[in-house]
Amino acid sequence: MVSDLIDRTNMTWKVDLVKESFSPSEAEEILCIPLSMFSQNVSLVWSGEHSGIYSVRSWYRMLLPDSVIANSDKALFKKIWQVDCPTKMNIQCWKFLKNLVPTKLNLCTRIVTTDPTCFRCLQSPENVAHVLRNCPFADQVWARVGIHSPTIDEQSSFSEWLSKLLSNISNNKSTEVLITIWALWTAQNKFIFEGEQKNPTDIVTSIKSYSLDLRLVSDCLTASNPRACIRWLAPADPFVKVNFDVGFRQHEKSATIGVIIRNMEGQILGASSLLAYHIPSTFAAEAQAAICGLRLAADMGFRQIEVEGDSRAVVTKLQSDSDDPSDIGALISEAKGQTRRFQECRFLFRHRSRNRVAHALAALRRSLDTDLVWIEEAPVEIETLAAEDRRWLDPP
Ligand SMILES: [Zn+2]
Repeated sequence: MVSDLIDRTNMTWKVDLVKESFSPSEAEEILCIPLSMFSQNVSLVWSGEHSGIYSVRSWYRMLLPDSVIANSDKALFKKIWQVDCPTKMNIQCWKFLKNLVPTKLNLCTRIVTTDPTCFRCLQSPENVAHVLRNCPFADQVWARVGIHSPTIDEQSSFSEWLSKLLSNISNNKSTEVLITIWALWTAQNKFIFEGEQKNPTDIVTSIKSYSLDLRLVSDCLTASNPRACIRWLAPADPFVKVNFDVGFRQHEKSATIGVIIRNMEGQILGASSLLAYHIPSTFAAEAQAAICGLRLAADMGFRQIEVEGDSRAVVTKLQSDSDDPSDIGALISEAKGQTRRFQECRFLFRHRSRNRVAHALAALRRSLDTDLVWIEEAPVEIETLAAEDRRWLDPP
């Protein structure tokens, strides 16, 4: 019986018994199923969506073998989307990686044209790698921009080359790479369709001036109102505020958890830095962290609390009045059960820039030997961050 595997007093899995009774991989899967002290209706859960509700989109995604998107490509796509530049450039770069652009070779494949040769050098077939890397024209542009093309076999794919190029350069340089790619493609099209013949120096001048403008705009945007960006918001009187955050390691199925409780003056009332195992996902980690925050606040005797996290999906579930049908439903139900220990409890979502102290407490756990809880104090690096938060508070 499944119930024989559960310790009903603490509502936890009997870890040793589960490990004895199942293979290591099955045991890990079982131990990752969250349990709750608070009863939940038995229901079917669709694990393909965070909402727990079936959708055709998620079914299709589950049918695709992992090999359809190799891990290296996933990492590269992620990097491309993180580059700070106009979105049209991120999108265009993604299209190059997916080969969704009308190069002459692609047009030949679709029988739109019969000659795949590059208009510019008249030497090789025009594919993505040629226009953006191998064409002598592109080569001169990269050299003058001052970005050294990584040494890689000429036959290697465009994505392998780009991945290597972006792996070891600063954020500003990554922006310049995407601007250069954009400029090379635009120049090739203007050459073909408008007969515009710019030399590499002209193109490099416009790349340099564009990236400088972009940096200036970005600096102005972040500097003009730093207060609005990073401000921790104090709880309303007489509430105390509980901030929680996590660091999740997928391969270990482990999560570090940081919790900080402060009053309306921003003074630290309690803090904890914990490590949890058998955590299946980052959502489960966030929900577990909310529970830890609620438990600490209740154990310390607070009656009115605001619980604040930076995972919109999890906070939305915590705010909802209805049962959560997803695979973290048991954790959501446990967190909601814990709220009965308070006179008043509100859940709030805030951007992670307002949640830095909890984030630092979660990160801190990796350098500690054991779980720690502090009352009315915290380690010096945490005190420093909390003091910065206090500086932004409105004067009373
Ligand atoms: Zn060419």
